[in-house]
Amino acid sequence: MKRIPVAGPSITQREIDYVTDAVETCWYGEANKYNAKFERAFADYVGAKHAVSLPSCTSAIHLSLAALGVGERDEVIVPDVTWIASAAPIHYVNATPVFADIDEATWCLSPESFENCITPKTKAVIAVDLYGNMPKMHEIIRIARRNQIAVIEDAAEAFGSEIGGQRAGSFGDTGVFSFHGSKTITTGEGGMLVTDNDDLFERVCFLRDHGRVPGDVSFRNREVAFKYKMSSMQAALGLAQVERAEEIVGRKREVFQWYSDDLSEYEGVSLNPEPVGTRNSYWMSTALVDSALGIGKEVLQQLLYDAGVDTRPFFHPLSAIPAFAEHPQAELAKVRNHCAYDIAMRGVNLPSGLNLSREDVSHVTAALKSIIDEHQRRQPRRAA
Ligand SMILES: *Cc1c(COP(=O)(O)O)cnc(C)c1O
Repeated sequence: MKRIPVAGPSITQREIDYVTDAVETCWYGEANKYNAKFERAFADYVGAKHAVSLPSCTSAIHLSLAALGVGERDEVIVPDVTWIASAAPIHYVNATPVFADIDEATWCLSPESFENCITPKTKAVIAVDLYGNMPKMHEIIRIARRNQIAVIEDAAEAFGSEIGGQRAGSFGDTGVFSFHGSKTITTGEGGMLVTDNDDLFERVCFLRDHGRVPGDVSFRNREVAFKYKMSSMQAALGLAQVERAEEIVGRKREVFQWYSDDLSEYEGVSLNPEPVGTRNSYWMSTALVDSALGIGKEVLQQLLYDAGVDTRPFFHPLSAIPAFAEHPQAELAKVRNHCAYDIAMRGVNLPSGLNLSREDVSHVTAALKSIIDEHQRRQPRRAA
């Protein structure tokens, strides 16, 4: 049986040509050619002043925190439901993560919960754009400014999403992106940090190259810092991808539209929201099963797997996973974050790769409906 993969890129002759050119020519004085072009094209697409190409989004979050001066005794607020990469760098700088609840309407950081989690120790918030969805960003920025809290926008999953025509990644003090093979545009592994702030930009460039000002060849490093650089071959791949940005985002939106055509009339599942005035780039088309049906995400995943369909579980709350089990903040989060614990338990990411056909999506939605119908026959809906 043919399996339908959960994610995957779109690679054309343009990508192959640029990478071939990079490996042949980007050495000696030309080493930075594709990085510079990729950074300029990326910054222009997002609508930011500066962009810095990096080995991953995790390193972009680490550098954001380090450049903002976040350290020991500081608290950083992060939504409870996200990939662990959003929160792990808080540990790298010895600060404390505080897990805020998510919002039922957006699946992203709840502005109310964010505000309630603020203490005198709060130094930054990491606002995550989940599966292409974005939080109520203007409210979050307003609360952060009022409390003098820096904003890092984790737009790893939202390349091409927008609120009021403004692109994801351009709302905070820094915005960070991932080009992992599963993400909307890819460099195999890779990341980007964008900012409008000249001082932050300079500090990031200094910290990511072992404490050297760009161009410095004295070999007398001024601080002990990090080494976070993207290779020219990856940058060449990234340039080709960002030049195709609207085609690729359009493809993501088309895949979502197919799911929506098949499932919007079907009772029992809901898909990613796209509130009025926003554009969702739908990194992962995601199905939430009605709570009344009482089907857990892992059961659903297994049944879809048996039908040849690969899925991922909706991220578990960070406060529920072994990595944070012993963390004192996890205890508080478990009691506080009702929406996180509700939504995260009944969602699955449906296949969203860029090579999907209409027939693939029809197969997925038919399997999903028959699993739910069968479950209902055996175990009728609980009364509302
Ligand atoms: C993928 C992802 C990251 C991490 O990206 P890497 O490039 O793998 O470091 C961070 N945050 C979110 C929300 C992600 O989905």
